Amino acid sequence: MNSTTPNLQRQFGSDNYSGICPEAWKALEEANKGHTPGYGDDPWTDRATNLIRDIFETNCEVFFVFNGTAANSLALASLCQSYHSILCHEIAHVETDECGAPEFFSNGTKVLLLRGENGKIDPAEIEKMVHRRIDIHYPKPRAVSVTQGTEVGTVYSISELKGIWSKCKSLGLRMHMDGARFANAVASLGVKPREITWEVGVDVLCFGGTKNGTHVGDAVVFFNRELAREFDYRCKQAGQLASKMRFLAAPWVGMLENGAWLRHASHANAMAQLLHDSIKDCPDVKILFPRQANSVFAELPPHVINGLRERGWKFYTFIGRGGCRFMCSWDTMPADVNAFVSDMKALLAVKSAGTAEVDPKFYGRK
Ligand SMILES: *Cc1c(COP(=O)(O)O)cnc(C)c1O
Repeated sequence: MNSTTPNLQRQFGSDNYSGICPEAWKALEEANKGHTPGYGDDPWTDRATNLIRDIFETNCEVFFVFNGTAANSLALASLCQSYHSILCHEIAHVETDECGAPEFFSNGTKVLLLRGENGKIDPAEIEKMVHRRIDIHYPKPRAVSVTQGTEVGTVYSISELKGIWSKCKSLGLRMHMDGARFANAVASLGVKPREITWEVGVDVLCFGGTKNGTHVGDAVVFFNRELAREFDYRCKQAGQLASKMRFLAAPWVGMLENGAWLRHASHANAMAQLLHDSIKDCPDVKILFPRQANSVFAELPPHVINGLRERGWKFYTFIGRGGCRFMCSWDTMPADVNAFVSDMKALLAVKSAGTAEVDPKFYGRK
């Protein structure tokens, strides 16, 4: 294969490796007819906003931005002053994968890191962090950011979220939710969206569309509407007010109006379950986290990792605390999982040559 030949093989690298799902694509095509006003003053943005209000069963404020980094950073900036701090898990995307954007867009709000099992914040850590320093020389804690589902493919239960909320309430902290994989969490828990957001104290949710099947565009959903004041100006200043906004909004209409968002998320979760169940009992494979959303994390011998990559499979080995991350998408097929598992098993059957290292040439951009 030469470099101009497209490689059409579906991969386990990320849920943003996949394309646009048919429902989003169809809505984009419809939105492409005729003229309509720009900057969100159009019927598609209206419909998408109202569909989001319907699924959350509340009158929230909704804004569409280009990606999750912008959504998180601008949402967090709206919760804090520059002399405040944001508490999040030590492997949270806002800390490890946003190039300092939350600090940048909030003009210096410090991000403080909390520990907890399985990628989830331990509520006791919130209290410890807040009480660690209460003098004027240290940034004042103002918000907690939780990721639902987490960076390691786990999901907070309703009662775990309530545990965090009760600390937030008693300590005067606002609550932000990074929901890049919110759909996968809702599908996994089988709950109503309200039960894991505003009913458990979430002030603002960054609702991911891209990994769920749209082309681009995440929604910032303010349940605490007061905090949304002038958020439109914040978006515009940050270069996040889309001129042809209807193309950020239309895919949401396609995804939400007939439940495609949950169907796709359930499907991706089921593919991860299939992968998990197919490899969990293999000798030399160690599953690292409970499989709750659309990913499987596993430790594999280095020669197996290298061998899979030599056979053309793509996946990351640096998320969370290492190990391999295998991510499923809305379009992952059982045959893709089976082909991948069969290559893995063939490689596992060949004992390691000894001290193979994971080949550094495979490290690169996410
Ligand atoms: C993908 C992702 C985001 C958003 O990333 P962008 O590349 O900026 O869209 C945010 N949080 C988590 C947990 C993610 O996995």
